[in-house]
Amino acid sequence: MKRVDIAGKVVVITGASRGLGAGMAARLAEGGARLGLCARTVLPAQGDAVVQSVDITDAAAVVAFTDDVAEALGPIDLWVNNAGVLDPVAPLRDADPDAVATNVAINVAGVSNGTIAYVRHRREVGGGGALVNITSGAARSPYQGWAAYCASKAAVDMLTRVVAAEESSSGTRVLAVAPGVVDTDMQARIRASSPEDFPEVGRFHELHRTGSFNSPAWVADQLVELAFGPAPDDVVVRIADEPRG
Ligand code: NAP
Repeated sequence: MKRVDIAGKVVVITGASRGLGAGMAARLAEGGARLGLCARTVLPAQGDAVVQSVDITDAAAVVAFTDDVAEALGPIDLWVNNAGVLDPVAPLRDADPDAVATNVAINVAGVSNGTIAYVRHRREVGGGGALVNITSGAARSPYQGWAAYCASKAAVDMLTRVVAAEESSSGTRVLAVAPGVVDTDMQARIRASSPEDFPEVGRFHELHRTGSFNSPAWVADQLVELAFGPAPDDVVVRIADEPRG
């Protein structure tokens, strides 16, 4: 199958300071994409990329970032809501309610902020483009210890389904994509969990031992195909063989 040429395409990735976001950014830059990158941490300058410190829970900051990227690079072809957090990891009865609220604020409201900013932007430039919200197999698997994460990713799936329907009239492709297991700080956090807090932790040690990970570069290639190639059958796509992590 012919690979999609991303040279010159304008791509935004949230949560690009490390992990999957940073790895996807590097892969897309190799392919000639022009990038808008953000995270709460201050990122190093990267070529002509627009790089900003943005907390995705701050809706106004996300809109300002969107405007800055569009002004510097032109209409944004693809927006990837990648930023997300796992914690709290514990049975919900033991979790700090503030930590649960923070998880939902980042994983759901933060993704909503990016989604709003992007779909408004696309309507202003005449429709089209593609939005990918990074979800997880945890949206469909009830992992003990991950109530906030499972619930927030399930919310991402449904938010994405609703927005896909709402934006069909503007021609914006809207997808939620689960990347499979990628060896990032989030995986290190999972492996650091006690079996009391996260009974399935042993399976994640085994994945690490066997190196059973999808690389960020491979995930980026799949996202590009999903965003710009033939439209997938469903709005929610799991690109790993089995839903994990
Ligand atoms: P990670 O290594 O912990 O990186 C998370 C990224 O999100 C960081 O760049 C972080 O940057 C950013 N971030 C967190 N809160 C933010 C906020 N409020 N505003 C802006 N940026 C924020 O995690 P990862 O494994 O790369 O995960 C990336 C995405 O993939 C997440 O949505 C995760 O749920 C999903 N996912 C990962 C796996 C996996 O196996 N790793 C599997 C399924 C799904 P700062 O701390 O600098 O803000």
